[in-house]
Amino acid sequence: MLLLFLVASTNNVHVTAFTPSITSSTRSRVVVLHHCDGHEPTLTGRDRRSRFDSYAPFTDDGRVGFYGEIGRSDGRIQPCHHDEVSAAPQPQLPTSGSSSSVTAITLAAPPPKRYGIGSWKKSSDSPSSSSSTTTLPALHRRPIVAGNWKLNPSTRGEAITLLKLLAANFINHRNDNNNYGLASSTLPEVVIFPPLPYLSDAIQILAGSGIQVGAQTAGPNEKGAYTGEIAPSMLVSSGVSHILLGHSERRTLFGETNEYINMVLRKCLDIPSVKVILCIGESLSEYENGLLETVIDEQLRGCLANVDAKYLLSDRIILAYEPVWAIGTGLTATPSQAQYAHEVIRASLAKYYGSEEVASAVRIQYGGSVTPESMEALMSERDVDGALVGGASLNADSFTRIFDVAVLVANKKKQATAPLPRELVAMEVLPTKNALGESPIWSDRDQALYWVSATEGEVWRWNLIDPPYRRVMNTAVGCIGLRSRIDHALVIAAESAILTTTMASSAANGILSDFASGPRFLAHRPDHMSTTRPNDGRVDRYGNFVVGMYNQYHRAGATEGANNAGLYRLNARTLRWEMILDETYKFRVSNCICFSGDGTKMYFGDTPTRKVYVFDYSPDGPLRNRRLVWTMPPSMSGAPDGAQVDAGGKLWIAITGGRKVVQLDPGSGVVECIVHVGDANPTSLTFGGRDLDELFITTRASPNGGGIWRVKMPYGVRGLPEPEFQA
Ligand code: PEP
Repeated sequence: MLLLFLVASTNNVHVTAFTPSITSSTRSRVVVLHHCDGHEPTLTGRDRRSRFDSYAPFTDDGRVGFYGEIGRSDGRIQPCHHDEVSAAPQPQLPTSGSSSSVTAITLAAPPPKRYGIGSWKKSSDSPSSSSSTTTLPALHRRPIVAGNWKLNPSTRGEAITLLKLLAANFINHRNDNNNYGLASSTLPEVVIFPPLPYLSDAIQILAGSGIQVGAQTAGPNEKGAYTGEIAPSMLVSSGVSHILLGHSERRTLFGETNEYINMVLRKCLDIPSVKVILCIGESLSEYENGLLETVIDEQLRGCLANVDAKYLLSDRIILAYEPVWAIGTGLTATPSQAQYAHEVIRASLAKYYGSEEVASAVRIQYGGSVTPESMEALMSERDVDGALVGGASLNADSFTRIFDVAVLVANKKKQATAPLPRELVAMEVLPTKNALGESPIWSDRDQALYWVSATEGEVWRWNLIDPPYRRVMNTAVGCIGLRSRIDHALVIAAESAILTTTMASSAANGILSDFASGPRFLAHRPDHMSTTRPNDGRVDRYGNFVVGMYNQYHRAGATEGANNAGLYRLNARTLRWEMILDETYKFRVSNCICFSGDGTKMYFGDTPTRKVYVFDYSPDGPLRNRRLVWTMPPSMSGAPDGAQVDAGGKLWIAITGGRKVVQLDPGSGVVECIVHVGDANPTSLTFGGRDLDELFITTRASPNGGGIWRVKMPYGVRGLPEPEFQA
C-alpha cells in the first residue's frame, strides 16, 4: 500500500513519499517528510520518536519541524520538516447519535469493605484477630506522646547527644511533613520535657523535627523576689510550648497540692497558646482501698477550680493519668485498668462541667512505665490518647518507637472509625484501544472530551455523540490543556516541545489531516535531559501550564539523583518556564497534578513511591509546604496516576494497575468512594458532561483496555470547569 500526501513546500524543502510502515495488524502509518537540503531520509521501525531531539518552527508558515537524526545521510544532523498521519483502521465506535450506547451506570457494588489510611481493613479483620489489643474506636482527639526526662541526663553534653539522636530520628521521617497518611489533626503530637538548663539547646536542636519542647514545672509568680522560681511567662517567651504540672513526684517530694497546682495552672492559662499537661493519679494504697474514683474526682476539682471549660475544649489543658504505683516501677496498668481510669476521668469532668462535650474533647495520656512493647495495647483503648513517658524517653530509639506505635494505632483507630466507602462501577463507553490513554480534559466551550494516547502520540476528541477522532502528532505526548479564547484549541506537552493545535469540529475517517490548524511550536520543553520527558500536567487556575516530567530510567534502578524528574510551569504571559519544585524533593514519575478549586493548593504524586502530596500553590512562586495526603496502603495494588479535584474538594485518583479509581478526602486521607473499572487499567480521569457530573477515565492497553470508561456521579458530586491556558 502506498499513500501519498502533498504538503505545501517551502523553498528548500524536498518532498518525499514513503511506503507506509505496517507496525501492527491494526495500524499502519504513512509518513511524508519535507526534508531540507535534498537528503532523502531513511525511516525504519515503529519507535521513531526517539530519534527526534527537538522541535523548532523553521518554515514560513510557522509549522513545526524536528531536529533529529532522521536526515543523517551525510553523517550530520539535518533539520527536517516532518508531518505524519495515521491510517489506522477504525476501532468499534458508537455510531452517530447513539447516545444511549454511552450511558454508564452506577451500581451497588460487591460487599463493601472499609478502607482507611495506612492499610485497608480487610473484611476478614476482626478486633479479635489483633494480637494484644481489643477496643479501637474514635480518633477525634489527636494523640500526644510526651517524654519526661525528669532530672536526666547529668550533663549538657549528654543532653545534646540525646537531642541530636532524637532530631535525626524525626527530621524528614516522623515530622509533620511525613505524616504516614494521617491528617495533621490525627498525627500524634510529640513533646519532650528536658530539665530547665537544657531547654534552649532542645529548642534549637529540635527545630524542624516536629518535636516540641516543654518545661517540667513552673511557679505561680510572674516576677520579683522568689529566688529559684520560674514564671510560666519566662518559659513561654523562651520558646516553650507546653508546661507539665502536678506530676506525682512534685506532689510527693515537693509538697505541691491541688490548690497550688491550680494557682500555677491559671497563671499558665493567662498566657495565650501555651498548653498544660496536668498529671493526676492515685497511689497504690488508694488504688488498693478502692479510692481511685474519689482521688481522681478530688484532684480534678482541686486542680481545675475556677478554670473555664473553654480551656479544656480548646485543648489548652491535656490530662495525664499516671497511677503513682506505675511510675518508674516497671509496673504498668493493664490496658483495661487504664481505660477504666480514663473513663472515670471523663465522667468526673462531665459532672463537674455539666458537659459531655468537655469530657469527650479532652485528651488524656496514660503514664507509668510505658515502653514500645506496652504502647500498642494501651493506646488501642478507646479513651487513651497517647502516653507520658519517663524512663523510655531517655533512649532516643525507644521514644521514637513509642511514637511509631502511636502512629500505627492512630491509623487503626482511623480505619475503624472511617465510614464504609461508597462503591461505583464504571463502564467502557468508547473502545479506543489507546496504547496509553492519558490527560483527559473536558471543554465546556466545546462540550467535548480531549485526551491523548501518550506513547502513540495521538490527541483525541469526542463530543459524546459522534464518533471520536484524533490528530497524530508523531511524538510522545505527556499532557494537554485547553487554550483560551480559541474553540477546539489545545496546548500540548510533547516529548520535545510544547505545541498548540486546533482540533476542528469533525474529521473524516477519525483522523484529522487538516494541517492548516496542525501543530505549531509554542515553547521548548522545560528541560533537555535525555532521560526525561513530559508526563502528567494541567493548566493551573491562573491560566499557566504546569508540566511534570517522567524519568525514563525509573524502572532501571538508577540512583536517586539520576532518577530525579522535574516539575515546571509554563508562564502564560512570558511563555517562559519556571521550575516550581526545587531539587530537595526527588521524584521520578510526576502524576496526580491537579488544583484545588480556589487554586491555592496543588496535588502531586510520585507514582513509584505510591504517595500523594499537597503543596501550597501560588502562580508567582515555587510550591511550598509539602504535606503528605495519602500513602497507598500495602494491601491495595497499583499506584496513583492521574487525579482530579471535584467541586467539593475531594480528590479522585486513578489507580494504575489497581483497576480502580479512589475518591479521597484529602483532609483525613480516608478513601470515601471506589470506582471499579472492570479489568482495565486506569491512567487518569476528569469530570465532564453537560453538568460536569460524569467521571471519564482513560485506560491503557495492557493488559486490557485502552478505552474510555465513564461513570455517572452520585447526586451532588460534580467537577469544576477546566481552566484554559491564557497564552
Ligand atoms: C513519668 O515520669 O511521668 C513516668 C511515667 O515515668 P516512667 O515512664 O519512667 O514510669
